[in-house]
Amino acid sequence: MAHNPGRRTVLAIGMGLILTGCGVRQATNDVVQSSAPSVPSPSNPPSTVPRLTPGEPPPVVPPPVVPPPAGPEPHRLPSRDEIIDRHAGRSPYYWGLEAPGVVSRIPNGSQGVALTLDFCGGAGGNSFDPDLISGLQRLRVPATLFLNARWVADNRPLAADLADNPLFELANHGTDHLPLSVTGNSAYGIPGTADTGSVYDEIMGNDAVLTALTGQRPRFFRPGTAYFDDVSARICHDLGLIPAGFSVNGDGGATYPAGAVTTETRAAGPGSIIIAHGNRPGSGTGPGLLQALGVMTDAGTPFLTLGDAIPA
Ligand SMILES: [Zn+2]
Repeated sequence: MAHNPGRRTVLAIGMGLILTGCGVRQATNDVVQSSAPSVPSPSNPPSTVPRLTPGEPPPVVPPPVVPPPAGPEPHRLPSRDEIIDRHAGRSPYYWGLEAPGVVSRIPNGSQGVALTLDFCGGAGGNSFDPDLISGLQRLRVPATLFLNARWVADNRPLAADLADNPLFELANHGTDHLPLSVTGNSAYGIPGTADTGSVYDEIMGNDAVLTALTGQRPRFFRPGTAYFDDVSARICHDLGLIPAGFSVNGDGGATYPAGAVTTETRAAGPGSIIIAHGNRPGSGTGPGLLQALGVMTDAGTPFLTLGDAIPA
């Protein structure tokens, strides 16, 4: 990836906010020790025993200095160079949708279902389905929205509205919408990131965009095509993000007709993570999804965002 001073500047600002938010505990109580402690003796009693004169009030003994309880270590994100060094020479053995560490279902026996919508951006991908979003609001179905940086750049006021809507949680769908590979693997004909540094850039470029948009870092990352190798999934974790997959493909990359979207979505059960798209108005995704969600909410299916399903 070409050097991009603008992005690095934004990233630096974002990282600064993160570090400021973590706070660094300062020592506030210094303990001063005598270099030559006296030895107690009958003529030189220990100084902690007060010598009282009859009628004299006892001296006021200050309370002992108690150090503050140890808090969690401030979390510092590894730099790009540290990520490159840490994973140098690691050869991935897995390439696909369910790399180790990728969350494809809600853990811990949850009865809930998580709906996730991708907004992929780029040529032909910067649209928005207002009927789908207003339908989710009418049904009160929360969703995690994976926004790509290109989509945000083309829809900034809309992205700000979505960020302000408490029904929705924003998540990271990459900077250039690339499959996440440390060796340039392709998925569906799309070449992935070429190396470890490119993985860092693909994640952290949009991390800075979304952090600036919402005031806090997103918690989840799903690459374009949802393909990871095992090393890039670990890098995601290293950068404090949960790599997100899915268990129910609701709209087949926004290619299914509405009836198929309804059938696939209704196959979701307790713990499912559904993937569909919010950037394909005119496709079968919106009508098919809303049809299914209406039936499922009537039946009492509990929907929740990934963030609520997987507490920090
Ligand atoms: Zn996408």
